[in-house]
Amino acid sequence: MRQWIGIPPKIMCRQHLIGEYREHFAIKGLLKKQVRLDGYFRNNCIEPLSLQLRFDLLKEEMKNRNYKTKDLVFNTELFDYLNDKKHFKLDEKETFNLLMQKCSVCRKNALFQNLFNPVSVLSTKTKKISQESDIC
Ligand SMILES: [Zn+2]
Repeated sequence: MRQWIGIPPKIMCRQHLIGEYREHFAIKGLLKKQVRLDGYFRNNCIEPLSLQLRFDLLKEEMKNRNYKTKDLVFNTELFDYLNDKKHFKLDEKETFNLLMQKCSVCRKNALFQNLFNPVSVLSTKTKKISQESDIC
């Protein structure tokens, strides 16, 4: 269970998009039961106050792909029992890099959108080649 904060939903593969979307329903269930979420914070998995915004972004992309969606509302009172932890923030860069390492499809989509450049040497080479071809 992890929010892929920092990843634009449009680059996510089907599995990761639907997975994260569904996880928001599970997280709401835990919040309603006031379950301790220490492990989620320790492992950088959720950012409480971004749940609604992130869910809305995921839902929008789900709709764009004609996947079925449901409404989900995170009332602010849901987070009260978390006290200061409700302000916990995820490291967007770290989350981005983690998904890029984990999933070749998401990585390919990010490359296609120019969001991810794993080998700068390769892009330098490509530039050289294109410059050479300009000369020809
Ligand atoms: Zn993926």
